[in-house]
Amino acid sequence: MTSYDAVVIGTGQAGPSLTKRLAAAGMKVAIAERKLFGGTCVNTGCIPTKTMVASAYAAHMARRAADFGVSIGGGVSVDMQRVKARKDAISGQSRIGVESFLKSTPNCTVYEGHVRFESPREVSVGAERLSAERFFINVGGRAVVPDLPGIGQVPYLTNSSMMDVDFLPEHLIVVGGSYIGLEFGQMYRRFGSQVTILEMGPRLIHREDEDVSAAIQDILEQEGIAIRLNAKCISFSKRGEEIIAGVDCAGEAPGVGGSHVLLAVGRRPNTDDLGLDKAGVATDPHGYIVVDDQLRTNVPGIWALGDCNGRGGFTHTSYNDFEIVAANLLDNDPRKVSDRIMAYALYIDPPLGRAGMTEAEVRKSGRKALAGKRPMTKVGRAVEKGETQGFMKILVDAESGHILGAAILGPGGDEVIHSILDVMYAKAPYTVISRAMHIHPTVSELVPTMLGELKPLDS
Ligand SMILES: Cc1cc2nc3c(=O)[nH]c(=O)nc-3n(C[C@H](O)[C@H](O)[C@H](O)COP(=O)(O)OP(=O)(O)OC[C@H]3O[C@@H](n4cnc5c(N)ncnc54)[C@H](O)[C@@H]3O)c2cc1C
Repeated sequence: MTSYDAVVIGTGQAGPSLTKRLAAAGMKVAIAERKLFGGTCVNTGCIPTKTMVASAYAAHMARRAADFGVSIGGGVSVDMQRVKARKDAISGQSRIGVESFLKSTPNCTVYEGHVRFESPREVSVGAERLSAERFFINVGGRAVVPDLPGIGQVPYLTNSSMMDVDFLPEHLIVVGGSYIGLEFGQMYRRFGSQVTILEMGPRLIHREDEDVSAAIQDILEQEGIAIRLNAKCISFSKRGEEIIAGVDCAGEAPGVGGSHVLLAVGRRPNTDDLGLDKAGVATDPHGYIVVDDQLRTNVPGIWALGDCNGRGGFTHTSYNDFEIVAANLLDNDPRKVSDRIMAYALYIDPPLGRAGMTEAEVRKSGRKALAGKRPMTKVGRAVEKGETQGFMKILVDAESGHILGAAILGPGGDEVIHSILDVMYAKAPYTVISRAMHIHPTVSELVPTMLGELKPLDS
């Protein structure tokens, strides 16, 4: 048994930074990783997918070259082995960076193996036993494999196994029309695959407003992606080499035939094989570790950060969890989860940047609100770039003037949203932006204009 001041489980987006802070504060710290240093974002999530989105964008723009007066001799083809090699190099550099920084951190011991709780103050990692006063769980999540009829009879891919694909699937069937499914769907279409997206609900990304879902559907369909909504009873079978996805409950509608299937129907926390029962740590019915506003579990001395606590689901929420825990433990600063404003992006092209409430949430809240909306066709920068799909919209509290939420679907939407987000954090009225002078020509310069044209939400 080796004893530590703190044991960190998992090297995702919170654990390594927390380890560094705890060790720098003089604690004897252990951190353990069972698979790949850096976790989901670095190895099978944000970083590799965004490098592939960049390759897909290059292919897309090459195909559109003539629109800009540029001639490319011959057709555009994509070398999937080079796309993968570029992705592997960027993701690998990040993984090595996390591993080497942890292994060179003073006061820190790195274990490679699967951690299980043996009691509220002890864990095992392989044959080793570690005891500590404090445990920080940062175990992340993994793709859900739904129990669809026939799924056991066909090969399927998840976001993790997609990382090994170095060829062009002839026809990729994507099950799930939400963030991960849409990113993969558009990128493979741009690489040259036929793509069909099957979504059980009546619209894509159902958490977003209906106008956002509709605009995104339009963008994807214009690129030749087939979208089957209301596919409530998805099943699989094989016809020779072909995979057939049944899409209706009666089995009457013709199935979709494809060469490969990607399951992108959600994620589940890696908490089922952690021995949480031996530590007495409570989880909710979905397996997420229950935490309070400062990320403490029900067991004193055990915290849970990142995707496994169900309070975020993004790299930035996991990193923010680290900041909250470190501030409380080391800086006497009582930061909390409820201080943060939810924000995220969907990295299709053009990207969707989101902050705060949706229009549907604002309406449901019953408060008086003002709304502004502007299509990208009326944004000079988008017109100049030939990227006029999408729109921006913003919601403002009619009484306080505070911005409640915004969606920017258009060029640079993932960046532009931050000018709005920062004013929301400042708890300043929208007039701070509407009276600001922004740079021409940018997408951001139309945010003040949109705010100058606010109308009551219900009119
Ligand atoms: C395809 C895809 C694209 C994404 N794109 C984005 C994006 O663009 N932007 C964004 O913000 N988010 C994105 N995400 C989400 C983001 O990757 C996650 O929210 C983020 O990685 C969560 O980090 P985490 O700290 O919770 O844990 P993770 O990064 O999941 O890391 C957890 C680590 O713990 C290890 N572990 C698990 N159990 C044990 C155990 N018992 N013992 C030892 N080690 C263990 C795992 O091996 C893993 O390395 C994406 C996710 C996917 C799947």
